[in-house]
Amino acid sequence: MNIGQVRFDLLQQVVDGGMEMVRRGLTVGTWGNISVRDSETGLIYIKPSGMPYETITPEDIVVMNRNKEIVWGKRKPSIEYGLHISIMNIRQDINAVIHTHPIYSSAFAVTLQEIPGISEDFVQIVGDKVICAEYSLPGTPELAANVAKAIGERNAVLIPNHGTVCIGSDVEGALKICHVVEKTAQIYILAKSIGTPHVISDEDIAAMQYFARNEYGQDK
Ligand SMILES: [Zn+2]
Repeated sequence: MNIGQVRFDLLQQVVDGGMEMVRRGLTVGTWGNISVRDSETGLIYIKPSGMPYETITPEDIVVMNRNKEIVWGKRKPSIEYGLHISIMNIRQDINAVIHTHPIYSSAFAVTLQEIPGISEDFVQIVGDKVICAEYSLPGTPELAANVAKAIGERNAVLIPNHGTVCIGSDVEGALKICHVVEKTAQIYILAKSIGTPHVISDEDIAAMQYFARNEYGQDK
């Protein structure tokens, strides 16, 4: 490994992204994990295992390749490194993966229910819905394979009895997906207590996704 290939800015992004997960209430303690890929070299920068976010410095980040081998770093990587790298390998369009244990999304994950497309921000940037992967134990190759298979072309997936995985083109994008998934799960649960949530039709979802991709925002 040529040390020059390790980018300090990406080490720092994993540190800062982890702190942001804590600040936004997406995770507690040492749980959850985050990774960022260098789109040039394909190297993946991942949180170390079992360290509180507040104590992690750039030197604690572990750099791995697409074959799940460590190429730089003195720590053990997050036990979910296989999940992160399996998703990166099938989704070349994204460069950040965040796994968390948020409360409302986890309510769906423990009842093995999908989060339906009930809000516009959700269907525009996450997908038509968020489904549950097949159950498997944490940190196993089976979990990595099941999660990578279940996420498909959506930007989030639920892990049964465990939590969520959200992805994005960068850390900020993945954090935004985490936020919108958790908010939608919370809205659905609240809405169910006062009535029947209206699920957006497939046709309207397709129209909104087209708009979000092609027309929303400036300079398009
Ligand atoms: Zn977890």
